[in-house]
Amino acid sequence: MYERVFVTQFSDLGLAKPLLTALANKGYATPTPIQAQAIPAVLQGKDILGIAQTGTGKTAAFALPILHRLSTIHAPAPRRSCRVLVLSPTRELATQIAESFKAYSAHMGISVATVFGGVKYGPQMKALAPGVDVLVATPGRLIDHIEQKSIDISSAEVFVLDEADQMLDLGFLPPIRKIVSKMTKNRQNLFFSATMPTEIGKLAGELLKDPVKVSVAPQATTVERIEQRLIFVEANRKRPLLAELFADNSFSRTIVFTRTKRGADRVAKYLMASGIEAAAIHGDKSQGQRERALAAFKAGEVRALVATDIAARGIDVDQVSHVVNFELPNVPEAYVHRIGRTARKGHDGMAISFCSDDERNLLKDIEKTTRQTIPRFDRRNDKALAAMAAVADKLVPAERDADGNRRPDARALRKADPRNDVPSELRNTRARRRRAKGGGQGQGQGGGKPQAQGQGGGRPQGQGGNQPPQRQGQQARNGKPAFGAKPTGPARVGEGMGRRQTSEPRWTPLD
Ligand code: AMP
Repeated sequence: MYERVFVTQFSDLGLAKPLLTALANKGYATPTPIQAQAIPAVLQGKDILGIAQTGTGKTAAFALPILHRLSTIHAPAPRRSCRVLVLSPTRELATQIAESFKAYSAHMGISVATVFGGVKYGPQMKALAPGVDVLVATPGRLIDHIEQKSIDISSAEVFVLDEADQMLDLGFLPPIRKIVSKMTKNRQNLFFSATMPTEIGKLAGELLKDPVKVSVAPQATTVERIEQRLIFVEANRKRPLLAELFADNSFSRTIVFTRTKRGADRVAKYLMASGIEAAAIHGDKSQGQRERALAAFKAGEVRALVATDIAARGIDVDQVSHVVNFELPNVPEAYVHRIGRTARKGHDGMAISFCSDDERNLLKDIEKTTRQTIPRFDRRNDKALAAMAAVADKLVPAERDADGNRRPDARALRKADPRNDVPSELRNTRARRRRAKGGGQGQGQGGGKPQAQGQGGGRPQGQGGNQPPQRQGQQARNGKPAFGAKPTGPARVGEGMGRRQTSEPRWTPLD
């Protein structure tokens, strides 16, 4: 006789009626596993240590019980203060979290404010002035507001730290500790992280009191539904290889990851020049540009969103058909985050990674961390790609020369560092200075910190400054392959990479 009761519906969780109405309006009846685990514990006032990635429903896992609390304990926030503080590493994630709070509290009269950098202070100050129930903020701008006394967080009853491991990657731990020191100790803490590196475990230990641990995926385990492929290719031939992939129409909504902002711009420009609708998203883009690029991608108007890790982190877009790692990430955990952008909500997805010779060590680290071997294909020494790479260089100059070496361009020589993408107002200058003196926690990425954004005035233009597109068929008429054209001859690299393609790939699989 089984006596265990399995929660299967939101209505079983004891949430306030207006929340159940909002959930019903969204069409959500069944809690996801992280929600089923976390909601009862949060409702009991417990601290939470949640190991969950974006896409698991973790936002609702904290938003719903928090809103329930706000609806049952009526106490308007005093002026310039908040009852709930949610910290997010990026502007995009902050916006998404705030949108979720607003949607779930649509029938409750709860105030939600968002505070992040890259936009004017005035409207944010105005929003904070009367006091807010829920404040979603990125660390740098929040500290600015605290210092300017436009917000006092000392009375916050609930503190949520989202994507804690990403905060670590961005060097945000010192600002977080500073923020935490301003809050009353008598608060509930909800701590979420996709992975649990030592530093994050330490921070959790400092913040949480007797936490309930909830987790939905073992650390650094890749999502099972995602098909993964690895293609060995010379660094300077990656762009034509990418364009070949897009010859397959099943690459309908693809996120392409690059390591640097400049790389993202260059790849997006090249795709556009090849007749493939693309947009870049990274920390040097204005908030408006980022929002427009994301909206166009969500609407299916652009097939390729070229992004750096930080910009893409936490972005919730349905039905991403493919993820392409144009460059392998420096940190193995980032591989897991990247490919987790696809195969969401029961859909299939494919992740394809390009690997040049100088990235072999990164590949080794990824496979060690994920405890799996990615099926490999070899496109090195491919003459067609070499020919296309030469043309590609003319269209949009490459960062590397024909031998795969970086060109002696000061900006191109900049070290690849995911922290390059931190919006300037969020950069932790004090921690940086400390690191420079040899004191701080290094990320092991060479310490090549970026210059202030826009240095030298040579920032890449938006898509408006592209070369005229070299449309399909233009070169095909000369008997040469056209970028982005559907392959007509022998099998090309796109084949076998589309989700529904059945033809055999031409390149040689390696074991
Ligand atoms: P998150 O991991 O919070 O980014 O959520 C991922 C996506 O799942 C978001 O689009 C949510 O709106 C959606 N979602 C959250 N909870 C549920 C649920 N119980 N049922 C269906 N979709 C959900």
